[in-house]
Amino acid sequence: MNDMAIKYIGVVGAGTMGNGIAQTFAHSGFDVCLLDVNQAAIDRGLAAIDSSLERMVRKAVIEGQDRERTLQHIHASLSLNDLREVDFVVEAAPENPDLKFSLLSQIDGVCRPEVIIASNTSSISLTKLAACTNRPGQVIGMHFMNPVPVMALVEIIRALQTDGMTDQTTRELTLKIGKTPVPANDSPGFVSNRILCPMINEAIFALHEGIATAADIDEIMKLGMNHPIGPLALADLIGLDVLLSVMNVLHEGLGESKYRPCPLLVRMVDARHLGRKSGKGFYDYS
Ligand code: NAD
Repeated sequence: MNDMAIKYIGVVGAGTMGNGIAQTFAHSGFDVCLLDVNQAAIDRGLAAIDSSLERMVRKAVIEGQDRERTLQHIHASLSLNDLREVDFVVEAAPENPDLKFSLLSQIDGVCRPEVIIASNTSSISLTKLAACTNRPGQVIGMHFMNPVPVMALVEIIRALQTDGMTDQTTRELTLKIGKTPVPANDSPGFVSNRILCPMINEAIFALHEGIATAADIDEIMKLGMNHPIGPLALADLIGLDVLLSVMNVLHEGLGESKYRPCPLLVRMVDARHLGRKSGKGFYDYS
């Protein structure tokens, strides 16, 4: 499908990334069907969009009427059948391979044949995801960064099967929502997480080995490397469960011990200390 024909976007998953993706498309004038598995998740997603827009109004990034207009473009849904009407899908469900394989197959079963299915996966093979559908040429990775409304990059991941038209349409759509598409081929962690997550994992090892406190590790990376946020605060923002699953994919997919997840990261996920979303991670958000 040509990008000019795309007006209605399906976003599957209303969590951290899904609600940001829905907000970004809606703000650019697209109608959005925001889908999740229960009403509580939808309510949380819509509340997050509302407070993000309110913050943007307060900072004079957008006007009050933009907030209303953006909210009107978003329709919430609990039924995958509502994807029948959409022109393009972005899947942003949890980073669980079996869940995504099954979900992609279900989305494929519902959407019109010409619709492109993009996944926001951080690390799962796009080639495997494409193979779960009957439209492998029209499956692609659209890897948004967190927080979606403010981050410029969308890493565009081509599966082995992705066709040229899908690649071109997805890049043009990315430009239409004010983001910059940068291509990468399908490989564990792509480019962004292949580099970012081992750096954060190393910061967790530094904490685990008592080399410095969390605050001091973050301060060193902010002041010394000009990073806008320290690696441990960033881990809390990403979600420690998401970070652990990316490290596991790198470790298994690339087979080198340098990708071994830090034991402290594993323990924190076991304790459900997942960062901002659970109220506790390397820092306390209660
Ligand atoms: P999240 O846990 O915040 O949200 C996932 C949402 O999906 C939840 O609301 C959940 O109820 C919903 N969901 C679960 N099963 C579903 C189903 N079958 N159908 C529809 N919705 C379903 O997760 P997130 O952090 O938003 O991550 C989503 C995806 O984005 C993952 O693939 C993750 O790797 C990727 N990603 C995350 C980040 C980040 O910083 N968090 C950055 C880039 C990419």
